[in-house]
Amino acid sequence: MQDEKDKDINACIAFTLSRPGKESKTFSFSKKTVITLGIVGVILLGTVIKGSTMLYAAYREQQELSVYREQYAEYTEKLQKLTDDSARMQKEMAQVSALEAAVRKTLEKDGEKVSRGNIDRKSQELDLLGTGGGESAANKLEILDVQNAMLDKRIAYKRENLSNMLEQLYNRGGYFKWPTEGGRISSFYGVRSNPFGGAGGDFHPGIDIANSYGAPVFADNSGKVELAEWNGGYGRYVKIDHGNCYETAYGHMSAIAVSAGQSVKRGEVIGFVGSSGASTGPHVHFEVLEKGATVNPLRFLQQ
Ligand SMILES: [Zn+2]
Repeated sequence: MQDEKDKDINACIAFTLSRPGKESKTFSFSKKTVITLGIVGVILLGTVIKGSTMLYAAYREQQELSVYREQYAEYTEKLQKLTDDSARMQKEMAQVSALEAAVRKTLEKDGEKVSRGNIDRKSQELDLLGTGGGESAANKLEILDVQNAMLDKRIAYKRENLSNMLEQLYNRGGYFKWPTEGGRISSFYGVRSNPFGGAGGDFHPGIDIANSYGAPVFADNSGKVELAEWNGGYGRYVKIDHGNCYETAYGHMSAIAVSAGQSVKRGEVIGFVGSSGASTGPHVHFEVLEKGATVNPLRFLQQ
């Protein structure tokens, strides 16, 4: 009985490979070997399946990670762009505000009422709306976006306000008042032929306004009298400092009505038309100085 069992286990599985024209070969394996090979095969198959599953999971993980990475890069890029926009607009806002303040100051200096009006009120309302909201990354972009849009609006309002004020400034017909009642320009600014008939020409640093002897000469704008005295070829001469890098000068007057250090208002009488100094007839020589250098007064004069 035992013998028969052993015989069964040790029984061979044999097959014969025969090819035409060749000697046939017989292969034989014991049953034990076949079972062992089967078990090893199953283990190997299991390992391969498990390995593939793990590899696939790792691949999926990698893919998800790269999607996250892409999304994060996109988010960072958006955030950077919005932050840059915000910085640029804040800088622009500061520039416009500074300009607005300078124009306002110039207008107010001359006693003009500068109404803040609807424009500034709108701008303030927008300021109040500019806060609130959580700080989570998800709505950070949204908040920045909204803030930037409001900043953009405020800049637009400021610009409008500024242009209104500038118009107010220009609508007065020029920054400087015409310095006499009427009169005509007898000599312009720049190179001219010698009025005394000599050879060549010279540079005329102002304009000459011919008027009747003794006609009043007005301060073209408010300021402080720097000089009020005889000044060589200029004759009786007054120079006024208006601040903001501007000065005006008046020459050839018959008399001076102000003294140095005195404050004057726009339109105040500072002297009278004459022909003192190097002059050929009653007129006022009028100069505008910008940062100490003469410029063409017609750029600024109310006519
Ligand atoms: Zn002159």
